[in-house]
Amino acid sequence: MSRDYDVVIIGAGMVGASLACALAPSGLRIAIIEAVTLKNDYQPSYDDRGLTLSPSSRRILEHIGVWQNVLPAINPIKKIHISEQGRFGFTHMDAAQTNNNDLGYVVVARSLGQALHKQMLSFENISLICPAELKSFKQSEEAMSIEISCSGRSELITSGLLVGADGSQSLVRRLAAINVKEHDFKQTAIVANVTTQKPNQATAYERFTHHGPVALLPIDKNRSVLVFTVATENAAQYMSIADTQFIDAVETEFGRRLGKIKQIGQRRSYPIMFIEAVEQYQQQLILLGNAAHSIHPNSAQGFNLGLRDVAGLAECVFAAIEKGLDIDDISILENYISLRLPDQQRVMRFTNRLASSFYNKNPLLIPARNLAMLMIDTLPIVKETFIKQAMGIAGLQPRAVRGQQA
Ligand SMILES: Cc1cc2nc3c(=O)[nH]c(=O)nc-3n(C[C@H](O)[C@H](O)[C@H](O)COP(=O)(O)OP(=O)(O)OC[C@H]3O[C@@H](n4cnc5c(N)ncnc54)[C@H](O)[C@@H]3O)c2cc1C
Repeated sequence: MSRDYDVVIIGAGMVGASLACALAPSGLRIAIIEAVTLKNDYQPSYDDRGLTLSPSSRRILEHIGVWQNVLPAINPIKKIHISEQGRFGFTHMDAAQTNNNDLGYVVVARSLGQALHKQMLSFENISLICPAELKSFKQSEEAMSIEISCSGRSELITSGLLVGADGSQSLVRRLAAINVKEHDFKQTAIVANVTTQKPNQATAYERFTHHGPVALLPIDKNRSVLVFTVATENAAQYMSIADTQFIDAVETEFGRRLGKIKQIGQRRSYPIMFIEAVEQYQQQLILLGNAAHSIHPNSAQGFNLGLRDVAGLAECVFAAIEKGLDIDDISILENYISLRLPDQQRVMRFTNRLASSFYNKNPLLIPARNLAMLMIDTLPIVKETFIKQAMGIAGLQPRAVRGQQA
């Protein structure tokens, strides 16, 4: 049977668009279906959120030809400062302690989106179908039949592989009847750009408070992205108070390391949930990115992890093509899972532990947390592990992360 496409990706968010770019050089016929017009301000993946990219993400973005497009909007992180409100423990990481020039990078999601889409649209074998929505699909031996709704019309397309990169509420996942493990952290992240009195000196700050973490990520000399996590029951109030009151609240939690917050941009809020798909693949179907695992943003790992998954899947697809296998060969997805599951589980454990340990008000845990921070700062081996985790280079990684050709 001839198929319309080899691969159909649902969702042109950061993960879906990255996968399309990563697979395009194979010559496979790829369709990417996106519900929201790419230039729309409400495009969920590409708002004004500052994203921290790890050095491993840089390597992957270089590999898929996107880094060059986004470079003018990238700001390096040279130092990371982690502290806990009202406690003596804190830790410091410096790029000078690693083999890399930078510990990571900050980019506004909108700029990354533009760079990804520019690259994606440059390939003739990628068809963007947008605005269009997935409605249903049916698996058969020859192909996956996918029903989409495009400008009010229903269309049927066929593909060898269906990729669900459609975010944490994935319809692909629900239609495939894949269950999830989920946990509501009852926290909401409020994100806004801020201008501070003192320059940030390319330092990313993360401070754990009893509400949850507060992070300031450098976007240029005196500007940083604020990620202020509050209990969800108080989020509406924090979103509605005047800028001056909100700045007072942030300064109470964060202190004045960067002097006064002189200006603050529009606030956006994101409720935080942990969602993990209990299975990630079926015949001719795979879940990627937030559809497979949505994690707490406390250590800025979500997209970085999704991008390593993209590199892993592309590596398995290229290896299968070299062996002459068809794209619907289940061994591609089996190999992908064995390659990627250990890293996914490590990151999920790490972020969940971080969330529960710092949010826990049990006074008995406080000395342990202080000790943990001191240990990270004083024991080189602990610190190295922590840095590797944050940089996305812990454990066995896809070739693109290791700087090798697929
Ligand atoms: C406050 C906050 C801060 C964060 N900071 C960082 C950070 O610093 N570093 C980091 O690595 N990660 C960070 N993350 C995580 C990161 O944002 C996510 O991991 C990433 O956005 C996941 O991308 P995705 O493409 O999987 O999903 P999404 O961004 O949700 O994209 C899904 C896409 O699918 C489309 N779609 C959905 N349903 C359909 C359908 N039926 N038909 C067609 N299209 C559909 C949507 O329109 C959307 O474009 C942060 C998250 C939050 C909430």
